[in-house]
Amino acid sequence: MSANTTNNDINWQQLHKKAEQACEHAYAPYSHFKVGAALVSDDDQVFTGCNVENASYGLTVCAERNCIATAVGQGIRHIKALVVFTAQKQLTSPCGACRQVIAEFMQPNAHISLVNHLGESKKWRVSDLLPDAFTPQSLKNASYSSPSTAQEKGQS
Ligand SMILES: [Zn+2]
Repeated sequence: MSANTTNNDINWQQLHKKAEQACEHAYAPYSHFKVGAALVSDDDQVFTGCNVENASYGLTVCAERNCIATAVGQGIRHIKALVVFTAQKQLTSPCGACRQVIAEFMQPNAHISLVNHLGESKKWRVSDLLPDAFTPQSLKNASYSSPSTAQEKGQS
């Protein structure tokens, strides 16, 4: 687990470069909004992904989720850090769907770095992007009491 991971353990420069390279492969003929992502796993493997759009717009998958899926497909379950690159003046943060997927595989205190072609960057913690996230722990903590059971308890 990456609970003790600090910023210093991460080769951010390498991840920035990998995310930028991944962005070159982005398939974004509709939005022209190309995105690249790179992550490093807890065992220090680096994976990349880009956004892949579709003529059926709703099937578009973001760079972050493609990057994470690639890592998971190789057996990765814990991600230390993630970088998102866009060639946009404004740094682009992950969409809501990606934030939820990120929270599945990254600790709340893990960092996500956004970078652009101007060399600007900004870091967030996972918990900043998705506070009080619904995570695997949420299911473990579930009590599974039915509404009728709760009602009976309340009446007694
Ligand atoms: Zn997204």
